[in-house]
Amino acid sequence: ALTIGIVGLPNVGKSTLFNALTRAQVLAANYPFATIEPNVGVVPLPDPRLQVLADLFHSERILPATVSFVDIAGIVKGASEGEGLGNKFLANIREADAICQVTRIFADPDVVHVSGKVDPIGDIEIISTELILADLQTLENAIPRLEKEVKGKKTAPEVLDAAQRAKAVLETGRTLFAAGLADDEHVRALQLMTSKPFIYVFNTDDAGLADTTMQEQLRAIVAPADAIFLDAKFESELVELEPDEAREMLEANGQTEAGLDQLARVGFHTLGLQTYLTAGPKEARAWTIHRGWTAPQAAGVIHTDFQKGFIKAEVISFADLVDAGSVAAARAAGKARIEGKDYVMADGDVVEFRFNV
Ligand code: GDP
Repeated sequence: ALTIGIVGLPNVGKSTLFNALTRAQVLAANYPFATIEPNVGVVPLPDPRLQVLADLFHSERILPATVSFVDIAGIVKGASEGEGLGNKFLANIREADAICQVTRIFADPDVVHVSGKVDPIGDIEIISTELILADLQTLENAIPRLEKEVKGKKTAPEVLDAAQRAKAVLETGRTLFAAGLADDEHVRALQLMTSKPFIYVFNTDDAGLADTTMQEQLRAIVAPADAIFLDAKFESELVELEPDEAREMLEANGQTEAGLDQLARVGFHTLGLQTYLTAGPKEARAWTIHRGWTAPQAAGVIHTDFQKGFIKAEVISFADLVDAGSVAAARAAGKARIEGKDYVMADGDVVEFRFNV
């Protein structure tokens, strides 16, 4: 499964956030494929459509899609003094598919800030700079090798060109993601750390949650990365409550959605994932696929035999199914489409696959 690595300077609230994530974790029993490790939090992707489907189909249970977060500890001791990041830390970042930096904007005189003051932009730069330097190091080793390989016609010139373009961007102090180079397939193939998508979690307090002007400023600075504003301490209390109580607490706090739910949604999207839905008396379920996947690929997520023996898919959009009130009514209204092997899945497709065994 794709994972999002959580990083951040000390004392910004990483552990607090990560503890909240692990407490919000899905039941491992329902997800036999998910390896549950101490530094991994597998949280449900909130999807209100599943409850609607479960009601329509009288499903016994609901199985949402999940998003995996990895706590990448051992951060940047001395990064700001130029000692750089530990190798273990970098290796962990290389394994993650997206990077989520927790940044502190809550003011609390009792919690020491590593740089002596609350400075979210400075904190972001410290980590970006370290990752940029590590990528530059990688490229400085790779480019001479690529030059030889291109001369010997063992490597396509585009690969070398991508490495040189990436180097030029990094030398200006920008991450490849911020420079928009992460969409370039040749650059992405270099597997550099700063071409991974970034998400920023700003750990804030009530004042910060209410300060939309400040939020807009920070959003503009970190774009194209997504920004989430949450109170990690509040989130860690929220996950302890029953759903009804949690909703009340959120409302009392002027929020419509828990920060962890936002983080799960944004993280899932950032990973380039989407879901399709299945429903029946046993379960209403969301299945995770990559954006752009075809119907047989999507079927393969349920079972490889579904992909191999794929015949067709009956697809009803969630909205049409809810309008019609049942699969039979949707069929009668001509809203059930029969799609073949070239069909590209759309978000919210409710699907039944037909296959040969
Ligand atoms: P880490 O070093 O980044 O993992 O940070 P921790 O999660 O251990 O948090 C450091 C300290 O800040 C702890 O004492 C937390 O209780 C406190 N803390 C974390 N989040 C918040 C927050 O949103 N508001 C306040 N006031 N304190 C927080």
